[in-house]
Amino acid sequence: MNKLPISFEFSAPKTADATAALLRSQDRLKGFDPEYVSVTYGAGGSTRDGTKEAAIALGQGAVPVAPHLSFGGDTPAAISALLDEYQEAGIHRLVALRGDRQSGYGRSKMSHAAELVAFVREATGSHFHISVAAYPEIHPESTSVQSELTFFKEKVDAGADAAITQYFYNADAYFRYIDECQARNIDIPIVPGIMPITNLKGLQRFSDICGADLPQWMVKRLEDFGDDADAIKAFGTDFVTGLCQRLIAGGAPGLHFYTLNLSQPSARILKNLGY
Ligand code: FAD
Repeated sequence: MNKLPISFEFSAPKTADATAALLRSQDRLKGFDPEYVSVTYGAGGSTRDGTKEAAIALGQGAVPVAPHLSFGGDTPAAISALLDEYQEAGIHRLVALRGDRQSGYGRSKMSHAAELVAFVREATGSHFHISVAAYPEIHPESTSVQSELTFFKEKVDAGADAAITQYFYNADAYFRYIDECQARNIDIPIVPGIMPITNLKGLQRFSDICGADLPQWMVKRLEDFGDDADAIKAFGTDFVTGLCQRLIAGGAPGLHFYTLNLSQPSARILKNLGY
């Protein structure tokens, strides 16, 4: 079987111990031969430096790394300096985002990710492969599906090479989104973001913030398991494996795993998929 490209996302570490844990997870997952790994930016209050240090450390291995980049409260000069450092470190990929509120995006001169994509292209030409975010279930601040797609197209027109979606558990949402993009001549690869299920409370908290829909039957089933971690693990692995199988069969161009710096939940799914 031809295997789709896969990638793993790690959360920017805030302490030396967290950096060590991230590097251990990455080491365990590299046997799955990812196309690249990415490191989040600023999420949860971590700093630009945490992302940079982790990205540069990971970039020294054989697997390409894609630091996430947001403008936050930075000046254009500070973003340029960071881009220079990444180029000098041999990094060729970026995930360009507006960023979450706690990253401080409101203090910047830029207000949307399309401006950041344009800025990176202007500063560095074609050096970086740039991925942007896509929302098959619509970004929580979007006022309509039409505006969501219009603004997504702006990021593509500004120079994005690919997109990674917010996670979702309803494959139809993804396929509909792809159809809508094709109808607007958006032809970059839109890679589904895959969130393994390991913990209902954490997933609900996250999903409330990012607008991902949790199917009610799935929530009820997870509630029934209570504190039975093994049952949650088995159900979550089966369910997300099934989702990935549908996405692969439906033509997804790759799979991007939100690891939350844990290797096992993604590894179990990938083994089920034959990786
Ligand atoms: P944008 O593309 O700017 O969109 C944000 C909102 O503004 C949308 O509702 C959009 O429709 C609207 N919009 C866009 N352009 C315009 C315009 N011209 N006029 C009016 N409205 C407009 N967050 C982090 O802090 N750090 C991370 O590392 C991180 N990694 C992520 C990785 C992935 C794959 C994904 C899917 C999300 C990630 N996020 C991260 C979360 C992301 O930062 C948030 O979802 C954020 O709220 C939006 O970022 P964006 O890049 O999609 O913004």
